[in-house]
Amino acid sequence: MSDRPAPVGAGRTVIVGAVRYAELCGRGRQLLIDNGFTLIENQTTVPWTASELHELIRSADAAVAGVEVFDQPALAEAASLRIVSRLGVGLDNVDLAEARARGIDVVNVPGGNAEAVAELALGFILSLLRRLPEMNEAARAGRWDRYVGRELAGTRIGLLGFGAIARLLSARLSGFDVTIKAYDPYADPAHAAALGVALVPLEDAVADVDIVSVHVPHLPATHHLVNDELITRMSEGTLLINTSRGGLVDEAALVRGLESGRIGGAGLDVFEHEPVDPRNPLFAHSGVVTAPHAGADTVEAYDRIGWATAEAIVDVFSGRRPANLAN
Ligand code: NAD
Repeated sequence: MSDRPAPVGAGRTVIVGAVRYAELCGRGRQLLIDNGFTLIENQTTVPWTASELHELIRSADAAVAGVEVFDQPALAEAASLRIVSRLGVGLDNVDLAEARARGIDVVNVPGGNAEAVAELALGFILSLLRRLPEMNEAARAGRWDRYVGRELAGTRIGLLGFGAIARLLSARLSGFDVTIKAYDPYADPAHAAALGVALVPLEDAVADVDIVSVHVPHLPATHHLVNDELITRMSEGTLLINTSRGGLVDEAALVRGLESGRIGGAGLDVFEHEPVDPRNPLFAHSGVVTAPHAGADTVEAYDRIGWATAEAIVDVFSGRRPANLAN
């Protein structure tokens, strides 16, 4: 008989609500298996419903959470749950206070997908400047249309929010010889100074720039931050990028901005209502480039986040404090 101690996960169950976990988070999944955990995984492509989660949570010691809802009724069913490890950043689907009251740790992975989102924002910027989607469409339709684009070098950029994603975007943009200013009342001036970014009031961040990129969280205070009034302060032809949340931009105001020419084009990963209605009036404008809330969807981001969520679970059952405890 071996006298080696049983692995921390022996006899313990991890429920994994996140979809496509085996495909996208293989390394983290293997870490859990190597530590002896038994996994119950969502094998479908849709999040667990409340009743599915309520059933599964009863036998769970840990959860790798997708977007299924860990609210009070769900947590009330959990007899032995010690940790909810969120596969991502957002925690709006987890009742943090209720979890704390029940002694359940909640962790997330701040900045885990920042690179992916920053690069998508950069992709939108370059696409809009060179009108890539229009050229792509024209060539496929047999038209040899050559649009004369604009260069990123030498442009002026205004960032709304200066957190993990906006800072990474600034760092990546620095190689393009651009001028960047940002609005973020809570930003660390040392971070801004190190990246050569000027911290300015909201109105200044959108004035006299070629590109505005939105990177604040969606809160009551930031709902429709980009509205008619703010758009009026922008220069003619300003490009607007939103990879943050749809509710930050008043879409009706954006349509008006595109129609007046004040907005010269928009790169949108997020919408006020998702999935977006294909009849959304924004799609009437050729200068609108979109993605289906795919900012975080890179192989590298899933791998990184998958590993961090698994590591947090192993830490908790090994008696270590997990990184990024959120409650
Ligand atoms: P972060 O928390 O690092 O940065 C957010 C910044 O916004 C902080 O610096 C904060 O000080 C600032 N802020 C907060 N309230 C503000 C206000 N009222 N006015 C101005 N600034 C304010 O977050 P992050 O990782 O940079 O992510 C930013 C946002 O991107 C997230 O909140 C999320 O909504 C979005 N996001 C989208 C995707 C996607 O798939 N498209 C993926 C990850 C994150």
